[in-house]
Amino acid sequence: MRKSLKPRKAYQADPTLLANRTILVTGAGDGIGRIAAITYAQYGADLILLGRTRRKLDSVHDEIAEETGQSSLIIPVDLANFDAKSAVELKRGLEGEYSCLDGILHNASILGPKTKIEQYPFDDWMRVFHVNLHSSYLITQALLPLLRKAPDASIVFTSSGVGRVGRAYWGAYSLSKFATEGLTQVLADELKEDSNIRVNSLNPGATRTAMRAEAFPSEDPQTLPTPKDHMPLYLYLMGPDSSKHTGMSFNSNDWYHE
Ligand code: NDP
Repeated sequence: MRKSLKPRKAYQADPTLLANRTILVTGAGDGIGRIAAITYAQYGADLILLGRTRRKLDSVHDEIAEETGQSSLIIPVDLANFDAKSAVELKRGLEGEYSCLDGILHNASILGPKTKIEQYPFDDWMRVFHVNLHSSYLITQALLPLLRKAPDASIVFTSSGVGRVGRAYWGAYSLSKFATEGLTQVLADELKEDSNIRVNSLNPGATRTAMRAEAFPSEDPQTLPTPKDHMPLYLYLMGPDSSKHTGMSFNSNDWYHE
């Protein structure tokens, strides 16, 4: 049975932490992305909800509207097919709606097969890299002009334990997360000289979601932290309290204990 989680760090987000900020969350329809989007809205942000399944995005939209009275922008898109043209369309669409963008949470990812590199199918390899890495690079590149217009902006890439230490059978998922760590560091280094944009990576750690159940089918989900348990770090990195941090790798597990 899961014990209750207590905050290890004394971070208490101000209720207006994200007021007047516009934040894009990818994979906002389910799992951690869904809870992050709702939480950001509760702390005052305008949300742009990007994800694969329209029905799930509508449900997040409605929950945010009910709780905060705010209307979010919905962008249904399959990141497996996202390309340079999609990035231009996304940029044009958002430039027409917003004067600036204050944050992006790159959260959408797929697991792919859990199999040895020796047998890993190339099509799956490419699909996992495209969803987990290439689409994040394309979205970020397209939206940097809008992020530069914000007083301070935050880009958060979602990593994983297997993106920091390699583990057998995690194949392209693991490698795509290693590359995400690299993207975080390179981009942070490039942006620190001439922008107010910070770039960090966040490893939520084991969390009670559909992806975790797919990766560990025999595990009892009730023993795991929920997406809500991770929200202190998700808030900290998205809000101005983290403005001095860039190019860093964060672990949500450091932020609470059982
Ligand atoms: P879920 O599988 O529960 O949710 C993933 C979200 O991403 C869903 O909303 C899904 O949309 C969306 N998504 C997946 N593929 C695409 C696509 N091709 N185009 C657009 N959207 C897509 O995952 P989690 O919430 O568990 O994971 C969130 C992040 O946290 C991921 O980056 C994951 O790697 C990371 N992470 C998770 C851990 C865990 O234990 N859960 C541990 C470590 C890291 P839809 O529902 O419509 O398919």
